Amino acid sequence: MNDDVELRGQQPIGRRRALQLGGLGLGSAAAGFGVRAATESSFVTPGQLSTRSNVAPEIVERRGSSRIIWSVNTAAQRVAITFDDGPDPDFTPRALAALAAVGGRGTFFMMGYNVETHAELARRVVNEGHEIATHTSEHRYLPFLAPADTGEQIADGFAAVKKLGDVRWFRPPRGGLTGAVVLAANDLDLDIAMWSVNGRIGKDESSADLAIRIGSTIQRGDIVLFHDGIGRGTFQPQTSFAQELRDRRGKELDALPRVLEQLTDSGFELVTVSELVEDE
Ligand SMILES: [Zn+2]
Repeated sequence: MNDDVELRGQQPIGRRRALQLGGLGLGSAAAGFGVRAATESSFVTPGQLSTRSNVAPEIVERRGSSRIIWSVNTAAQRVAITFDDGPDPDFTPRALAALAAVGGRGTFFMMGYNVETHAELARRVVNEGHEIATHTSEHRYLPFLAPADTGEQIADGFAAVKKLGDVRWFRPPRGGLTGAVVLAANDLDLDIAMWSVNGRIGKDESSADLAIRIGSTIQRGDIVLFHDGIGRGTFQPQTSFAQELRDRRGKELDALPRVLEQLTDSGFELVTVSELVEDE
């Protein structure tokens, strides 16, 4: 059987990765990968392979089962409301109050720096029953970083948030999804949650307009993006950039109670991202 030769040079993922190893001159060590008749006693784990042969560990390594979602295909009348960039003393309590008023649960994609700076507030989010998720440590725009720095931003942010509890989801700042981001998230067993409806207020949009826009576009299974922080502005609070962003966030949060009331009045249940994917 000549699978080894034919498959060489193709993407080494899953079963094909294993088949490709069979073509690298491993002899009997490769027999456990199911290419040839394998017996249980001839099976070697990838970890053993790297010590028992001259195959570089990165070739033997297996990837996980991480996924990327923008919304969820579901028959349930449910949506996930999400908040990025917090916790922030001005905004996070307003997000929590709006959720509590309608009995909804949200998912908070926190910046590691803000978790450390506002630890009590971060704990309050957990204590009120919401899902915590990660949004890097310092909100750098990852497509502009070297892959190693991308990995560090994601790993450091994850380390800060997971001190509070289980963390499943990662979202890259400004939606900057790159190959390096996907690989780094996978290395940490993080799933990536993007969004399908954007609660960012437009330049000439009022809070009332924002509430109408979201109410008229939202569908079951949507993931809605709001913010309870100001991202990079956190580090330069006196700049006009940061102050304009604070104003905008304030208007978005003005709209939030109305948005959430509309949704619950229309029969939507407000659930966490992890709950939303249970309905697929
Ligand atoms: Zn952000």
